[in-house]
Amino acid sequence: MKIAVVGTGYVGLVSGTCFAETGVEVTCVDIDKNKVEKMQNGIVPIYEPGLDLLFHRNIEQGRLKFTTSLEEGIKDAEVIFLALPTPPGADGAADLQYVLRVADDLGKMLDHYAVVVDKSTVPVGTGEKVQAAIAANATVDFDVVSNPEFLREGVAVEDFMKPDRVVIGSTSDKAAKIMDRLYEPLVRSGNPIIHMDLRSAELTKYAANSFLATKITFMNEIANMCELLGADVDLVRKGIGTDSRIGNRFLFAGIGYGGSCFPKDVSALAMSANEVDYDFRILKAVMDVNHKQKTKLMAKVSQYFDGDLKGKKIALWGLAFKPETDDIREAPALYNIEALLAAGAEVVCYDPEAMENVQGVMGDKITFAANEYAALEGADALMIMTEWQLFRTPDFDKIRKALKNPAIFDGRNLYSVENMREQGFYYTSIGRKDA
Ligand code: NAD
Repeated sequence: MKIAVVGTGYVGLVSGTCFAETGVEVTCVDIDKNKVEKMQNGIVPIYEPGLDLLFHRNIEQGRLKFTTSLEEGIKDAEVIFLALPTPPGADGAADLQYVLRVADDLGKMLDHYAVVVDKSTVPVGTGEKVQAAIAANATVDFDVVSNPEFLREGVAVEDFMKPDRVVIGSTSDKAAKIMDRLYEPLVRSGNPIIHMDLRSAELTKYAANSFLATKITFMNEIANMCELLGADVDLVRKGIGTDSRIGNRFLFAGIGYGGSCFPKDVSALAMSANEVDYDFRILKAVMDVNHKQKTKLMAKVSQYFDGDLKGKKIALWGLAFKPETDDIREAPALYNIEALLAAGAEVVCYDPEAMENVQGVMGDKITFAANEYAALEGADALMIMTEWQLFRTPDFDKIRKALKNPAIFDGRNLYSVENMREQGFYYTSIGRKDA
């Protein structure tokens, strides 16, 4: 089987590489020449655990190729995946320009039957728009399918190779059968391929992400209540997470969700609701609470220094929006850095994977340290933004010696309050008592 993947970012590259691993011949297409050149030279352009090995193996075995030419990429491809960006437009709705431009090009180029698969997260009705854009110029038969992607950055390869479920939205039996054939190797343990209509498949993705964003946000509100009522959110989490109706995942309080998906998908679903005159009130509350939660730690730092951060040197551990990724899109760390700089503070940071990306957007406005302890030298406080494993069991003596002032502001509740008290730190976290 031969397939093409158009758009070789976190989703496209992982999907393409994993399908190649199942024996499929994959050509990945991207308009970014630098990225394609890197991949052609054997360099993985993103950090994603486990991807390197599969990437190199499938290139060596001739099943994984890269090109900037859409025409070359789709040659003889039975399935063409669109894994293109759908960023928020100025009004918060998903911007479909990338998807529709490629659909338009495909209409002009297709010279054989193909299944065109929307893997990007797109609002309900996009499949029909893609269908119309291709049909405007197509001279051959084709089908459009919605196949939303549920992988998580940081464990993307594992998620893709062993998905909880695969959702396929299509009205064509022929297309559905081709999709089943492609996915069968990934669901051998019995996880379902769920078939449905296009619109339901498109909404499934937004419903999943909005539900998860709501779950996190609910827990952040409980954390805020814990602080006001003298309770401990970690105990409350354990108390409710053991209830099988609730489940113990996505219940960790912190400094809000970020990343390239939750913020834009919640906003896009809210915009879809507006368009059909539905007042989706929970989503508005979720966005509002999350926005405030992102800079909650900054408010604590400011209060600790009596509102005067001018000339204070603040060390930051973690920049990526979550561990095991170099993705910094909508990362809470960036919001806090902006707030710290605006308050006149100096920022020194360390992240195992995301520093290059942050340097790209922040330039020399902040300093990047060689390791986590170097970031602390002479700093007035440490702020923890991302729960990288590396930060979980640090050498507290080293931290105390390096910091000018033994204060830790932990946005991810990494340490025990008791331990911090015994170690003599001023320690504040989210939804727990201070030490
Ligand atoms: P990304 O920004 O990492 O990658 C998109 C790629 O598309 C880029 O490499 C870009 O150069 C390329 N591109 C843009 N225009 C192109 C064109 N005309 N032709 C060829 N390539 C083009 O994006 P991503 O994170 O992989 O997300 C892609 C889609 O998948 C989005 O809709 C997103 O919401 C969805 N999604 C993302 C994740 C995730 O964790 N990142 C998970 C599930 C779903």
